[in-house]
This record gives sequence, structure tokens and C-alpha cells, in this order.
Amino acid sequence: MGQTIGRQATRNDRSAGAGAPRVSFEFFPPKTDDGAVRLEQTVRALADLAPAYMTVTYGAGGSTQSLTRQWVDRVRGLSGAPVAHHLTCVGASREEVDALAADLWADGVQHIVALRGDPPQGTDRYRPHPDGYPFAADLVAGLRDVADFEISVGAYPEVHPEAASAAADMDNLKRKLDAGAARAITQYFFDVETFLRFRDRAHAAGIDKEITPGVIPVGNLKSLIRFSQACGATVPRWLTDMFDGLDGPEHEETRAMLAASVAIDQCMRLSDEGVDSFHFYTLNRAEVTRAVCHALGVRAPAESAAA
Ligand SMILES: Cc1cc2nc3c(=O)[nH]c(=O)nc-3n(C[C@H](O)[C@H](O)[C@H](O)COP(=O)(O)OP(=O)(O)OC[C@H]3O[C@@H](n4cnc5c(N)ncnc54)[C@H](O)[C@@H]3O)c2cc1C
Repeated sequence: MGQTIGRQATRNDRSAGAGAPRVSFEFFPPKTDDGAVRLEQTVRALADLAPAYMTVTYGAGGSTQSLTRQWVDRVRGLSGAPVAHHLTCVGASREEVDALAADLWADGVQHIVALRGDPPQGTDRYRPHPDGYPFAADLVAGLRDVADFEISVGAYPEVHPEAASAAADMDNLKRKLDAGAARAITQYFFDVETFLRFRDRAHAAGIDKEITPGVIPVGNLKSLIRFSQACGATVPRWLTDMFDGLDGPEHEETRAMLAASVAIDQCMRLSDEGVDSFHFYTLNRAEVTRAVCHALGVRAPAESAAA
């Protein structure tokens, strides 16, 4: 009961526009013309929420890597927001990674999301490039030698699936931050308690940098389940029950409403626990992310003026 009253009070503050959190939006480079048109619309629709930054992911096998660069430029041009380029250790020597990073810096890209990367499709496990950066912590240190980048790294509230243990994974996160990363952005999760316990463990391990929760609006449940199995994120039963029977295209609007409701509840609860930054895995769609931001008090200037 007390908690409910407390939360209501916070929500009222939010609707008055007080203390809105910082938000960031992640996109992937589309592979089709239709996808490109949709992403441009999405970027335009989210730009006026004045995100702290937007990011563009980097493909595992090389196919979409040059697309990342193109879309970083395009998103920058369309939004005027700072845009981060994701970069991985996969399939490239240190020299090649350093050269790309130097080129990005010269081009005004100052923020990198530095990751190890996953094994390219068709390979069973991750093998470092013989002359490459083996892990993300090594990449962070290498990037810091290239230029004064702002660097974000990945973190795993449910523990990275290849980690030797939860403690080893936390040590790894600390190494990445100590090597010069400014913040960690987490893999998505649906259980708020999982994130809060992870944040507690991080603090206990001496981590005092920003840990931004990654939030995914549920799009297609089947692909979400498939992807979650690979990345070690739990899709709870209540969530699959909620979206059960809504796979068809005729249910798109219903799915979007439910996705917004789930993400709003999650973000509100995190916000009540002091979380003040959110990273949205937008899946290149604007509607649900925009609704969640609105609920959090993140408004376009015209919407704020009307409030
Ligand atoms: C916010 C975010 C964005 C992402 N964007 C992309 C993207 O654009 N492109 C892409 O391909 N993937 C992306 N990923 C996925 C990411 O590449 C995978 O999760 C990958 O498996 C791990 O990357 P990492 O940077 O966390 O790896 P690391 O931090 O290097 O850790 C990987 C694993 O190795 C272990 N480890 C680390 N160092 C050592 C060591 N010295 N010895 C032994 N074990 C060690 C860790 O505990 C962990 O289990 C993203 C993930 C997140 C959270």
C-alpha cells in the first residue's frame, strides 16, 4: 500500500515534467529499402525527444559493418543527436579496428559502444581474431589509446551465457569500466528485481559508474524467445501468456499496446528505484518507445508546452 502511494506521487511529479530521465535509442542498419524508409521515419519521430544519444549496431559477420557507418552518418544528419557507433572485436585485427576508430574520431563520431561481439553465423563458438582484441575490456583499452572516446559497454543482469560465473562476469564488467568506459548498458530483462539485484552486486563490487538498463518493447514474441535463448535473457511465463494468440498481423496494434504497458510498468518501477537513464532497443520502430518516454515525462518541446 505504502509503495503504491509512493509510486503514485512519483508519477504525478513526472506528469508535471519534473526530473525526466535521460533516454537513448538503439537502431540496427536495415537491409532493405522499405526498412531504410521506416528507420528514417523512426529517427525523425524520436529525435525531438532530445535523447542523450542514439546508437547504431554493428553486424557480426562483416555484411552490415559498412552499413553501420553509413547509418551513423544518416542518423546524425536526421536527428542532430550525438550518435554512437557500436564496434566489436570480431573478425578484425587490432590495426584494422584502430584505423576504423581513428577514422570515426576524425569524422566527429566521439561515442563508441564497445563489445566483444558474437560468433558469426555458422560458427559454434567465439574465437578471437589471432591479431585482434580478444575481449571487450581489451577493446576499450585500445580505443582509449586511439582517442578520447566516450565509451559504453555491455552488462548482463542475468550473467553472460559464456561467463565462468556471476562473480567472474562482474569482474569483467569492472575491468571494462576501469579500462575507461563511461557506462554500462545492460542486456534487456523483464524482471525488475533482476536488474536491482544486479545493480546491488555491481555497487558491492566497487562499480560506481552509470548502469543504464536496456529496455526492449516486445515486438514479435517468437523472435524475442529465439533471441533470448541465445543471449541468456529470461522471457517470463506471464509475458508469453500475455502475448499468446496475438501473432497475426491483424493483432499488431494490440501487441503494441501490450508492449507499451509492459515497458511503461518496468520503467516506472525502475525509476522509482532511482534509475535515471534508459536505453531503448527500439527494433527500428518509434511508437512504443515514444509512448514509454511520454509516460516517463520525456517530452518533445510542443508536448511539454501543452502539459
Ligand atoms: C548494449 C549491448 C549492445 C550490443 N550491440 C551489439 C552489436 O552491435 N553487435 C554485436 O555483434 N553484438 C552486440 N551485442 C552483443 C554482444 O556482442 C554479446 O553479448 C557478446 O556475447 C558479449 O559481448 P561483451 O562486449 O559483453 O563481451 P565481454 O565483456 O568481452 O565478455 C564476453 C564473455 O567473455 C567473458 N570474458 C571476458 N573477459 C574474459 C577473459 N579475459 N577470459 C575469459 N573470459 C572472459 C565474460 O565474462 C563474458 O562471458 C550487444 C550487447 C549489449 C548488451
